[in-house]
Amino acid sequence: MSEVSSTTIAAISTALSESGIGIIRVSGPDAVSICSEILYDSKDNKVLSSMEAGNFRHCYVKSGEETIDECIVLLYRAPHSYTGEDTVELQCHGGVFLLKKVLALVIQMGAIMAAPGEFTRRAFLNGKMDLAQAEGVMDMISSRSESALRSSRDQMSGRVSAVIRDMRARILYETAYIESAIDDPEHFDLTGYEDHITDVVNGLKAETEKLIGSYASGRFVREGINTCIAGRPNSGKSSLLNLLTGQDRAIVSDIPGTTRDTIEEYVMLDDILLRLTDTAGIRNTDDPIESIGTKKALNAASGADLVLFMIDASEYLETDDMEIFSSVYEKKTIIILNKADKTLKIKPSDIYEHFRYSAGESIRNMTFEEFSDRYPCIIMCAADGHGQDELKREIKRLFYSGMVSSSSDIVITGLRHKELLCAAEVSLNNVLNAVSDGMETDIYTVDLMDAYKSLGLIIGEEIGDDLADEIFSKFCMGK
Ligand code: GDP
Repeated sequence: MSEVSSTTIAAISTALSESGIGIIRVSGPDAVSICSEILYDSKDNKVLSSMEAGNFRHCYVKSGEETIDECIVLLYRAPHSYTGEDTVELQCHGGVFLLKKVLALVIQMGAIMAAPGEFTRRAFLNGKMDLAQAEGVMDMISSRSESALRSSRDQMSGRVSAVIRDMRARILYETAYIESAIDDPEHFDLTGYEDHITDVVNGLKAETEKLIGSYASGRFVREGINTCIAGRPNSGKSSLLNLLTGQDRAIVSDIPGTTRDTIEEYVMLDDILLRLTDTAGIRNTDDPIESIGTKKALNAASGADLVLFMIDASEYLETDDMEIFSSVYEKKTIIILNKADKTLKIKPSDIYEHFRYSAGESIRNMTFEEFSDRYPCIIMCAADGHGQDELKREIKRLFYSGMVSSSSDIVITGLRHKELLCAAEVSLNNVLNAVSDGMETDIYTVDLMDAYKSLGLIIGEEIGDDLADEIFSKFCMGK
């Protein structure tokens, strides 16, 4: 891993849109001298030369004789800053043109444009945080729900890293013990060690598996449950989308085939984030445009984590309903009997009777209870919201029961972390196999060290420049 460069970087750290305040951050060895040349008080004195670290001052940004803006400047001295370097933050007015002009001035004075995530990369390189914590920062910025915020905060605060470090410490202890015993058999006894190492590795494996298992719910926490609303035209799909989003996002009309394309929206249901897709009605049709919509709808359903299958229960079931079910039944599917304010012509037991035979063998012999557990059937009125609470309950049950036992459990949200944990699990399994095959003790150390390395990569130990570049390039500008 390369050392922190000697350059001074600068970027606009707030969103590029008109706002009350916009922040420009400058970090590096020349941050203070660069900013000193452009920041003056009302008497035209340089403000930074008389400022103490940890303070802020009101001042003017000047380019020669021209006053560009009035701002608040904050001064941080290394290592007491986010990056661990000297850092100056300019809180300017939040005009896009204005901020770009101030940034251009800072760059003209000798700073270089920061790459995305470069401030956090420097914080990592300066030991202000480990890699998992740095990734937690990025997750926190992109969090869209309370639980996403909680898990990213855990990661940022180092809770995830602490668990990983503890596991590594145990592996290292065992490896050191084995190596000491090989070098110095008089003082280190390996009699009965097989049982001990089996216990330790089983414990480590259980922790690894728990973290891997948390990834599934972690992905939903972070990215939202990819949810597709599917059903025949006029069943009430757009009405459901509008109900859940709380706005008239999709056109509701009694003319079948109004929604011809897919519409996507993020929706929070209590603490559940749904990435919701409203699709065109699915039916066999000769209309070429409508059949493109049908194809797209089936595509969206096949890629979804959850299908909300809308059925107009004021009408009888049609073959199209069975066909839709046969293409989504392998997904987590909630069947919604909509238009409950009208006289219902379909009951949950009718769904059970008809749908069981329209899909695969695996569900044919299900009892009504088993079928209802696998495919909850909710009587709903998308027009007035009746049934909405039951829908939320069922989504929670399908996605969260048994996954995360409590909010204090650590959740892994990054695919990179999950893959490294899986690699560590493979190495730990190899150790167990070596023990049960009666292999020489020193063979274990190879796999133990592989597990140690995989876990180390999560927190950024033993990580190469290429991987660090890739990870930090996903950060947003100015962070
Ligand atoms: P889509 O084609 O599946 O998207 O269906 P829409 O949401 O456009 O609804 C089709 C028609 O059914 C519209 O006239 C809606 O007002 C009506 N509708 C939707 N939900 C309900 C409901 O719960 N009760 C009643 N009575 N009408 C509904």
